[in-house]
Amino acid sequence: MSHGPSPAVPSVALGPWEAIGERTWRAVAEPESVTIGLVAGTGGALVIDTGSTPAQGAEIRRTAEAVAGVPVVAVALTHAHYDHVGGLAAFRDLPIHAQRQLGAHLTDPALLADLAPYGASAADLPVPTHTFGVAHAVDLGDRVVELISVGRAHTDHDAIAVVADARLIFAGDIVEPAGPQLGPDADPERWPGSLDHLIGLMLRPDWLAYPGHGGPMAMADVTLQRGWIASILGEVTNLVSDGIRYEDAEQRGDWPFPWQRIAPGVRTAYDLLAARGFAPRDQLPIIRKDVRED
Ligand SMILES: [Zn+2]
Repeated sequence: MSHGPSPAVPSVALGPWEAIGERTWRAVAEPESVTIGLVAGTGGALVIDTGSTPAQGAEIRRTAEAVAGVPVVAVALTHAHYDHVGGLAAFRDLPIHAQRQLGAHLTDPALLADLAPYGASAADLPVPTHTFGVAHAVDLGDRVVELISVGRAHTDHDAIAVVADARLIFAGDIVEPAGPQLGPDADPERWPGSLDHLIGLMLRPDWLAYPGHGGPMAMADVTLQRGWIASILGEVTNLVSDGIRYEDAEQRGDWPFPWQRIAPGVRTAYDLLAARGFAPRDQLPIIRKDVRED
């Protein structure tokens, strides 16, 4: 979903870079507490996600070069929500890596509405120069970072950045310790299967996923969240069977995450089932309304 700023524009600030592995760092950028990744090699550094505003992007680039001791030579994006791409303008002279479908979302009205309070617009969102469908490696000299499209989940273009030699993954918003955000652009049906990519990569000891928001997650945490996300479509299926409509779903359903984080995704689940002819009925199908009215 879009992590929209409140009407009063919240303060933009970048926290310190924290070392989390061999020449690998993260920083937390406010106002959305978004994780920014940094991986350095002999050939330069890769920044993963860019913060919320052009000025924040510039601060990320400047401080990243100070801590890494090498120039930033590329940027990678996990998905096109404002708190991840808002700083892109500061990297427009560099290769911009993203899943193939991300570029089309840089003109989404919801994204531009999120950026407007900060004085940023579509002109501040250069399109990715290096796109990929499934996977793609960024060469940093003596090491590579692999970018992998996991499939539809939080958006239709989620990508993760795998730093194999540091045994960690920058996962974007496909997992969050506080619970996933199932916004209007999320896919509640495919999301669990998409998380299998991440889980498969973590089937080794000591790997950690660094989500787009919140602290690191171990494989058990990611696997548990996969199950909870899968339960959402299952619960919607149960509710539809019981004739309960979306409008009553918050009260009548049993949800694994706070309602406000998943409400648009529950709506999408209802729409998915309705498109297959599975919708709440007004009464038992013995006396079907359409037949009765004939
Ligand atoms: Zn997001």
